[in-house]
This record gives sequence, structure tokens and C-alpha cells, in this order.
Amino acid sequence: MVVRFFAVAAAVVLTTAAAAAAAAQSPSPTDSARVVLLGTGTPRPNPEASQAATAVVMGQRVFLVDAGAAVMRQLAAAGLPVNGVSALFLTHLHTDHTLGYPDLVLTSWVMGRRTPLEAYGPRGLRRMTDHLLAAWSEDIAIRTNGLEREAPGGYRVAVHEIRAGVVYDSGGVRVTAIPVQHGEWRDAFAFRFDTPDRSIVISGDTRPSAAIEQAARGVDVLVHEVYPETRLAPEQRPGGEHWPDYMRAFHTSDVELGRLAAAAQPRLLILSHIVRMGGTDAELLAGVRSGGFTGRVVIGRDLERY
Ligand SMILES: [Zn+2]
Ligand SMILES: [Zn+2]
Repeated sequence: MVVRFFAVAAAVVLTTAAAAAAAAQSPSPTDSARVVLLGTGTPRPNPEASQAATAVVMGQRVFLVDAGAAVMRQLAAAGLPVNGVSALFLTHLHTDHTLGYPDLVLTSWVMGRRTPLEAYGPRGLRRMTDHLLAAWSEDIAIRTNGLEREAPGGYRVAVHEIRAGVVYDSGGVRVTAIPVQHGEWRDAFAFRFDTPDRSIVISGDTRPSAAIEQAARGVDVLVHEVYPETRLAPEQRPGGEHWPDYMRAFHTSDVELGRLAAAAQPRLLILSHIVRMGGTDAELLAGVRSGGFTGRVVIGRDLERY
């Protein structure tokens, strides 16, 4: 399979200079796609579980899904490059998935990035990016024109506002955006990564999704958000009576995830973006089992690799 891939790749690279450039990124036989959990948490500040961020690493290339707060610190902690990633994929524009976006854009520049950051995400990403660069325009001017002499324009972002389907396909990595339902969000996506040796689906935020169930059939790894069904109750605050309705419209319970995984049969199910509401690991695992999934399942922790 891998040998055949290289034969095809070799035939293609001889045709154009652009293809030759892509060949420089082609995987070597020792490259194996790995999932690195950078943030397994939620909006709630938690030193043990940073906001949403997951890396798919293949050889020298790092693909980042979501950029919650602390994403740069977590990249550093994981020993991954802080001067830019190969591409960023944003599932949706909630703060716990994007607060680290300006940090990623600007700090990677300060750390040496000279080429535009490739950023893929839903409609609204271009406007968000323009506003962020405007918000830090004073900093950008000082760093460019002052004695820091950062690379002019190195802070730039190549924004790709995406729709469902294949959004990236280069050097042996294909990324497919899968539309999901996340409450009132018009655009929210899961992403499926296909590499020469592994298939990985990352759910983003979603209520139980038939599209994810379909996309995750037989994959090597499914990283999925979750909350413990048994802990769902109204919150003691104004408007808190709507909390259970919100969770059901926006998120997936452990029991629902167990049902989905039983149908999709991923080789490994990783729980991440865990809205705990006091729930323990044992409760979450019991929920997944009661949904019917009997395969391998782990509770994701920040900086773990799979
Ligand atoms: Zn979220
Ligand atoms: Zn969300």
C-alpha cells in the first residue's frame, strides 16, 4: 500500500515544479501519523485540561485542529514547532476553539515564521482574522519597523473559508471537512485525516452526528467530545434551567457517544473536550459502555500521544 503510494507520487512529481515542491513534503516510510492531545478541556480554565486543540503530526508536518487558549504553550510543551504549523483547521468559531488563534498567528511570526499561516475554517474566519490583525496593528508596526526587525508580512494568514468535502490534499495527507450540528452555529465541522498509514477523525463540538458515524467507520482513531449523561441538570444561575436543552442541542453524551462508536467501530476512541460537570472517568467510561461500545476507549489527557 505504502509502496504503491510512492510509485504514484513519483510519477506525478516529474510533471510540474509545483508537484516537485509537494514531493519535498512526501512522507518517508518512517513517518506515521500521530495524534497529540494539546487541549482536552472546555471554556472552563483548568491547568490540567487546556482549551480545545489537537495536533496530527506526520514527520516534520504538524496539522492543528482548533486553537483554544494556551495552544502555543501546549505546542511548546509537546515539543512541537512554535514558528508555525503546516496548516490550521478550525472546527467552528466558539472562543474555546479560537482564543489561541491570535497567539498562533502572531507568536509564530515572532518565533520566525516568514510565510502566511494556512488557516482553514468556517465562514466568518476571514472577518475574525482581519479584526485580529487590526487589533494588533500597533504591535505589528513596531515589530516590523522597530529594532526587532521581524520579517515584514510574516504575520500574514492565508484564510480558506471552507465547505463540506476535501479541503486539503497534499503530500500524502488528505483532510475532509464533515458538517456537524452544533446548536445554532450555521457552520461547524469535524475533520477526517487520511494519511498513508492511518485514518483519524476529530469531532469538534457536535451533538450526535450521523455524518461523523459514517465518516468514522473503521477509522484508526476517533477523537470525540463528550459529557456525562447522568450529570446533566439545570444550573443554579439565571437562565440555568436551559442548560440541559443547551447540552443536548450542542454536545454529545457518553451514552450517545457509546452508541455512535458501537456503530462506527473505531479502533481507538479518545474522549476529549470533556464537559465534566463533576463526572469522573469511571462514570464517563460506564456511559460509553452502556451505549454499547465494547472497543478500546481512553479518557484523553493533555499532551498524550496516540
Ligand atoms: Zn467547545
Ligand atoms: Zn462549541
